[in-house]
Amino acid sequence: MQQIRHLKPAGKAIFKDRYTKKANELLIPWPESRKAPYALVGLPLSKSSISHSGASFAPGVIRAALASYTTYSGEFDKDLVENIIDFGDLYMDPTAISRNQEWLYEGMLDIYHTEAAQNWFLLGGDHSISYASIRAFAEQRGKVGIIQFDAHHDLRNVDDGGPTNGTPFRRLLEEQVIDGSNLVQIGIRDFMNAKAYHTYADEHGVQLYSMADIETRTIHAILQEEIERLSKRVDSIYLSVDMDVLDQAFAPGCPAIGPGGMDSRTLVDAIFIAAQTDKVQAMDIVEIDPTIDFRNMTSKVAAYLLLTYMKGMKCRNG
Ligand code: CA
Repeated sequence: MQQIRHLKPAGKAIFKDRYTKKANELLIPWPESRKAPYALVGLPLSKSSISHSGASFAPGVIRAALASYTTYSGEFDKDLVENIIDFGDLYMDPTAISRNQEWLYEGMLDIYHTEAAQNWFLLGGDHSISYASIRAFAEQRGKVGIIQFDAHHDLRNVDDGGPTNGTPFRRLLEEQVIDGSNLVQIGIRDFMNAKAYHTYADEHGVQLYSMADIETRTIHAILQEEIERLSKRVDSIYLSVDMDVLDQAFAPGCPAIGPGGMDSRTLVDAIFIAAQTDKVQAMDIVEIDPTIDFRNMTSKVAAYLLLTYMKGMKCRNG
């Protein structure tokens, strides 16, 4: 075959020393590989959002955003080499919200039962997907503690507007999937919640940390205390990351943006600290609408959080 000078063959490195693996190369399809330290699933439902949302497009965009990063952590001089099994996305009916949430639950139940991975990454979708995912996760892994990073409580009752992205944790509490005292909400913001939900959280023993609490006590101290407390009470810990916990400057792609939120470095630190704990075994990332994002900033934070979790897990293992 004729040689063409200077042509880079697709997907091949031409300079061995200069070739750096990109993070998206860690993804391998299921069932090509049946076991890996990590698995990833897309839950592309956003018609259950209270405000207009195209978050159903986020799983694909977050996967693509992994290509922005290498697999190398200079801080720890470690390369991420562990594979992430990619289950793809669950199929959603174009119109039926409640049926979709049932399908998400059934699909996640089957996926968790494959026991393909020790750690799970779930990409929303809006925050309503966490109800289905956590309900299925609890059936597979036992008693679950939740650390929720969010500007909002998400404790609305279902009677007032159906199973929206404002209800997932209320539903989990009312159906006794989780105990209130095993739910930790971090980053709750002023002027973004009604008093009724704060009261509901207090009455059910939910642990609340406002942005002011994070400033005064530091994210490090809060997480250390809560992870230690939860680790004694539950079989596994699930991180639920609503990207609107971030200030609007860091997450322009969230439907519910606002000021006074967390900066992205603090959230990265939080995930790194949490992922070093054995009982932390899953993380969902929700509420990114790529159609309103700016230069994929918000999806890039999400992809960075996946890698940060993997870095934390690597430190767990020494
Ligand atoms: Ca939320």
